[in-house]
This record gives sequence, C-alpha cells and structure tokens, in this order.
Amino acid sequence: MKTLYIVVPCYNEEEVLPETAKRLTEKLARLRDENRIGADSRILFVDDGSRDQTWAIISALHAAHTDIAGLKLSRNRGHQNALLAGLMTAKEYCDLSISLDADLQDDIDAIDRMLEEHEKGSEIVYGVRSKRETDSWFKRSTAQFFYKLMKALGVDIVYNHADYRLMSRRALDELSHFEECNLFLRGIVPLIGFKWSTVEYERSERFAGESKYPLKKMLSFAFDGITSFSVKPIRIITSLGFIIFLCSILALLYFFFVKLFGYTVPGWTGTISSIWMIGGIQLLSLGVIGEYVGKIYKEVKKRPKFIVENFLNH
Ligand code: UDP
Ligand code: MG
Repeated sequence: MKTLYIVVPCYNEEEVLPETAKRLTEKLARLRDENRIGADSRILFVDDGSRDQTWAIISALHAAHTDIAGLKLSRNRGHQNALLAGLMTAKEYCDLSISLDADLQDDIDAIDRMLEEHEKGSEIVYGVRSKRETDSWFKRSTAQFFYKLMKALGVDIVYNHADYRLMSRRALDELSHFEECNLFLRGIVPLIGFKWSTVEYERSERFAGESKYPLKKMLSFAFDGITSFSVKPIRIITSLGFIIFLCSILALLYFFFVKLFGYTVPGWTGTISSIWMIGGIQLLSLGVIGEYVGKIYKEVKKRPKFIVENFLNH
C-alpha cells in the first residue's frame, strides 16, 4: 500500500486550519479504510512564517492526531517555496504526494480521482479547474489572461491548473534536481515529463479568511513566472528596436527630401516626440534586460530557498 502525504502550505490561516484539518483527516481515514493508501499516510501542514496562531494550531493538531505532521519555516518565503519545502520533506517518507491550498478552494474529492489516475500509471496528475464561477470576475479574468499570455510566450503550463497536483516519489526526486532559485512550480513540473494526466474539479470559495494573494503579489508572481521561463520579452524588444531602426531610416529619407525641396520647418514636434519615444523604449528595454540580469544574480548566489525551523511527525 502506498504512503500518501498531503502537503498544505499555510500562511496566516488560523481561521481555516481547524476545519481544513478536520476534512482532510476524514478524507485520509476514508482512503485508508478503502485500502487505497498506506497506514503511514499523513497530512503535512507547512507554516510559511505566519504571524498569527497558525503554528500553535498545527502543533496542537499534531499532538491530537497521529495523521498530522507539521513543518515550520524560519520565516515567510512565499507560497511556492513553502510548497517546495513541504514536498521535499514529504519526499523522504512518502510514495505519493498531493499538494493543496489550506483554504479548501480545491475540491478534496478530486483526490480519489487523482489516485485512480496514478493507479493507471501517471507519475503526475494535475488538478484542473473546470469552472471558476466562484472566483471574482477580476481574479478570473486576470488569471485566464495570465495562462494565455504564458502560452503565447511559449511557456508550457497546464491551462487552469494551480498547485493542486499529485506527484509520485519518482517525480519528486526529479523535481529536487531543479536547483533554480526563481521557483515557479507550475512551469517546472511539466519539464519533469513522465506519463501525466489531468483531473477536473470545481473551484469553490475560500470558506474563511482572506486571500493571501493581493494584486501586488499576483502581478509579481506572473512577472516572475514569465521571466523565469521565457526569453521572448527580450526578443520582442530586439524586434521592436529593429522596427524602429527601419522607421528611422524612412524618416531620414523623408527629412532629406524635405530639406532638398526647401520646405524646412522648425521641426520641434518631430524632434521632441522622437526623443520621448526612443527614450521610453530604451528605458523599457533596459528594465527588461535588468530583470533577467537580476535573475542571474539571484541564481549565482544559490541561496537556500527555505530554512526549516521545526518538523513534527509521528
Ligand atoms: N500561502 C503561503 N505563503 C504566502 C502566501 C500564501 O504559504 O506567502 C499559502 C496560503 O496559505 C494558501 C495558498 O498559499 O494555502 C494559496 O493562497 P490563497 O488561497 O490566499 O491564494 P488564492 O487562492 O487567493 O489565489
Ligand atoms: Mg485560495
């Protein structure tokens, strides 16, 4: 029987944790009764440096249930790093892992179908949202725009898949060899390959607490995702530079003829507008190039992606 670890990153989730733990332990017990998972299966809550009672709740849950394990990071490192910390810890104990958000927006009944897909041979099973009606209009449209943009920029991600997925021990071992610091798991996991499949589920509302992804975090997540996986933005700038260069040749010809036939004008408009335009494009280009240089800077430092402060397991 395979040992399953359900990995749940938590950041200031005191309001949802008791309920999440209740539903997940029930789920685990049922799966165990049905002989689908091994006796050592666990729910691993990762406290991503929360400032509220999250860790106290996790410790209490751990003391009360043998099925619950807890991992405390030394400080807040963000969703992706917290998830990775959980998966890399679980890897040492499990045959299978499923990652899930703490707010239960992802339907936990999809776990059964994920296990079925794994039994049919998939090393990775992606949970895919069939509908997003419960998300706000804003969240839904920005997220969908993001998936489409990523596709257009040539990043291979699974449409409408967040971080709800099953990964086998083997896939986790391979994941551990990706050493990059700019972590965007949705982009990295498809690079692992192996046989994979998807399972659809309906996304529901966060049942308590607030989203830990305000617009600012969402934007920086999207920007990181793109610049970690695609050099197309740099190519676009190169093409833009080339097009502008061609245009300036045409403009030069035009200016030359104007001069030749004596229609010289003060030409303030043309001068000033081209200064602004070229200046803007140059700044933009420098910014994008700087972004990639910054990424290289981060990668060469090879800083640890997370530091574990405490690990509780039965
Ligand atoms: N999260 C985390 N660290 C952070 C931000 C979020 O571990 O810095 C966790 C959070 O506790 C939740 C998951 O990441 O389990 C997804 O966050 P949330 O549900 O707030 O995002 P949304 O569903 O609104 O996109
Ligand atoms: Mg959520």
